Amino acid sequence: MRWKCVANIVRKYATKSNQFHVGIVGAGPAGFYCAQQLIKIIPDCQIDIIEKLPVPFGLVRYGVAPDHPEVKNVINTFTKIALHKNVRFIGNVTLGQDLTLSQLKQSYNAVVLAYGAEEDRKLNIPGENLSNVISASKFVGWYNGLPANKSIHENLNLDVEDAVIVGQGNVALDIARILLTPVDILKKTDITEYSLEALSRSRVKNITLIGRRGPLQVSFTIKEFREILKLHGVSTKFQNGQMNGIDELIGGLQRPRKRLIQLMYDASKNNIDEEKKFNILFLRTPILIEGSEHVKGILLSKNLLEGEKAKITEQKNKLKCDIIFRSIGYRSIQIDPEIPFDKLTSTVPQNTGLYSVGWLSSGPVGVILSTMSQAFQIAELVGKHFNEGLINEPKPGYNNISRLLLKRNVITVDWEGWTRIDKEEITRGMKSNKIREKIVDIDEMVQIGGNI
Ligand code: FAD
Ligand code: NAP
Repeated sequence: MRWKCVANIVRKYATKSNQFHVGIVGAGPAGFYCAQQLIKIIPDCQIDIIEKLPVPFGLVRYGVAPDHPEVKNVINTFTKIALHKNVRFIGNVTLGQDLTLSQLKQSYNAVVLAYGAEEDRKLNIPGENLSNVISASKFVGWYNGLPANKSIHENLNLDVEDAVIVGQGNVALDIARILLTPVDILKKTDITEYSLEALSRSRVKNITLIGRRGPLQVSFTIKEFREILKLHGVSTKFQNGQMNGIDELIGGLQRPRKRLIQLMYDASKNNIDEEKKFNILFLRTPILIEGSEHVKGILLSKNLLEGEKAKITEQKNKLKCDIIFRSIGYRSIQIDPEIPFDKLTSTVPQNTGLYSVGWLSSGPVGVILSTMSQAFQIAELVGKHFNEGLINEPKPGYNNISRLLLKRNVITVDWEGWTRIDKEEITRGMKSNKIREKIVDIDEMVQIGGNI
């Protein structure tokens, strides 16, 4: 009886799967993990992963800090997924530019949007457009070799001492660590050569990390904070006795926050003074950035906590600084007018036949592991809709897409093309004892990897 049931399911999949085409937009963790699960749930389904850049891996390549190479090991899993006979990587194709959502819907039974959250949130305060006010996403993209951000050093002056980072998440700590780590350590990583050169000339030695709420509400996690504490020649300082009395609250906290706050409290008792300072300042909201052309300082309102919320007071204080990094989170955008984009949450909800995964779906929070779980869940939903016959109308899949791209003269990069780019980067890296030297010019990447 059980065998008969299994045989029926297999037959059902086998007859329909040949026609079942999935188009995934975005080759970051969410896109790859969704593909991995779909292959398991719908054997023989055809999956195309359409990626804007000529290279895959999204924020694993362009976000994860260069001194965290172990995190990038997920690339091995993604490579296995890409090499599956039913998965096709189509690089250098931008949804909203080379293809429209309507064309994808005509071509695929299921369209899965996995294009992440590339924009950054703004403070929306006067002075935010002054030079040397830099968004975290651009700075991170710059040191990681994101083509769109390769030139920001033209407007970035690191020949200064006092820096402010607004936001107390892990991205803020990544930026602080990159600025405070000796270049001799960074030069062994895959950080770009031009940023290494700029960082070697940096004089930044005081960094203040500003949070609008208190110590118990920080967004960063223990591993990343511990890395800051271990930085050679850097002392971590908590200002204005803001950690006083926190020890009495630790007992009532749940792990892992309990361990983090204990570590922060212990660190606040440390009186060692090193040459470089990492200052943590709580309960402050930026209200104005001072300077006429360049940043000269930041005006902050003092806040009170009401429950978990920050409440601005009339009290203010000024902080002198020469550079400001805005690290208050990322944001998704509507890249095609037909995308059912929720403007309030900047996310895309699930629809039958049109799905979203990763940061585009959940908002710009979560690590690779949580992104994986969410992508698996949505793949299950696609499988359910397939199984219920809701999205099984015959579709042309790649045949139609390749015709459309040819018509627009788009040069695509397939997986084989990416491996050529990969090899070239590794070869260039070897010359300076680095893991790789990323190519930061799209035309050059396409020259090497494109189906010309
Ligand atoms: P992304 O990784 O952003 O992938 C989206 C993909 O879509 C990109 O490849 C992009 O090029 C593509 N795309 C965008 N627009 C289009 C378009 N119009 N057409 C086609 N393709 C498009 N997590 C950890 O576990 N460990 C870490 O150390 C870590 N470090 C991080 C550091 C930073 C600075 C940031 C921002 C995040 C970090 N994370 C880390 C979190 C992790 O990167 C995310 O959870 C994960 O990358 C989200 O995956 P995603 O696929 O939704 O988005
Ligand atoms: P995040 O964790 O959401 O932190 C954003 C920070 O900005 C918070 O401190 C937040 O404070 C503050 N903020 C937001 N809006 C603000 C405003 N208008 N004014 C002042 N402050 C404001 O975001 P993130 O640092 O960009 O990280 C994104 C995700 O990637 C996170 O899930 C993170 O863990 C992950 N990541 C992981 C790693 C790693 O594992 N090593 C590295 C980097 C990133 P409030 O709390 O008050 O809103």
